[in-house]
Amino acid sequence: MNLLEQAYQELYPERKENRELILSYSGRFRGYNANIRMNWGTITINASRKWRGVSPDIQKGLYQELLVRLLKVRKHSINIDLYHNFIKSLSNVAPKTQTHPILELSFERVNRQFFNGMLEQPNLRIGAGVNRLGTYEYATDTVMLSRILFENTELMDYVMYHELLHKKHQYIAKPGRQLHHGKSFKEAERRFPDSERLELELNKLVRKHKRTSWFW
Ligand SMILES: [Zn+2]
Repeated sequence: MNLLEQAYQELYPERKENRELILSYSGRFRGYNANIRMNWGTITINASRKWRGVSPDIQKGLYQELLVRLLKVRKHSINIDLYHNFIKSLSNVAPKTQTHPILELSFERVNRQFFNGMLEQPNLRIGAGVNRLGTYEYATDTVMLSRILFENTELMDYVMYHELLHKKHQYIAKPGRQLHHGKSFKEAERRFPDSERLELELNKLVRKHKRTSWFW
């Protein structure tokens, strides 16, 4: 029995799965990413090769989390807790290898103004997208900001602040989903001066860039 089959059976002892459960590891994922897909005869999980070196109990938690999301049958387990604790702890030990001088200045301004300079610098990198202005990835402790923010320092700092709040607040795990923007997160976010105006300006900035790309 592979680990995915074990994870399934322990999570849903009362269910009988007719599809074949396939688990494969791949080198094309960033960090500890993984995905799940289903078709007529199979449920397949592809996971980053890095998972091979992780304790089977934690791996099972990942597979159970993905199964809950796919099958929408809400269940909870100790393994799922272990998995979330593992992901959250990774940000503390993730190697810091990526940075960028302009993003570093933004990080330093925001850290000084809102975190008393107490936040440790995460990996910082630039993204090319328009739809995602910023992301924070727990497993690699990485803030990504879109290149289009480089034309407006205030907006850059505002998005940097949002992503750093993710680093600070982390997330709350609920069955089958994760709460990333909880009450305390939103309260903290509003501490940024003029946040309502900045939200509008962010929308404008995105619209502008979408429009220019139509003419390509
Ligand atoms: Zn967010």
